Amino acid sequence: MNNNRIELNSCYVCEKPVFPEDKTAKKRINGVDSTRHLWHRIPNSGIYFHHLEEAKEFCLKVITRYKDDSNDYVVLESREILEDIKRLEKIGA
Ligand SMILES: [Zn+2]
Repeated sequence: MNNNRIELNSCYVCEKPVFPEDKTAKKRINGVDSTRHLWHRIPNSGIYFHHLEEAKEFCLKVITRYKDDSNDYVVLESREILEDIKRLEKIGA
């Protein structure tokens, strides 16, 4: 439990707050650096995920498809996202 979370920004995908401990990705939108939660977009998915459960499922699929080859950035990023999803589930985000 942490009640001292500091809000940095709003996510450009879900419009919810982005906290310093969240894994994020940046994109330049209309000349402004915008931030999103990393888990919304999994490499090779081609879509944005709006629910943790769906993102988690896709991550596991990707890791299986790549036979958990840790040299592949897709697996590395999927693992990173999975880690963050587990953390978010724990704090009930
Ligand atoms: Zn978000």
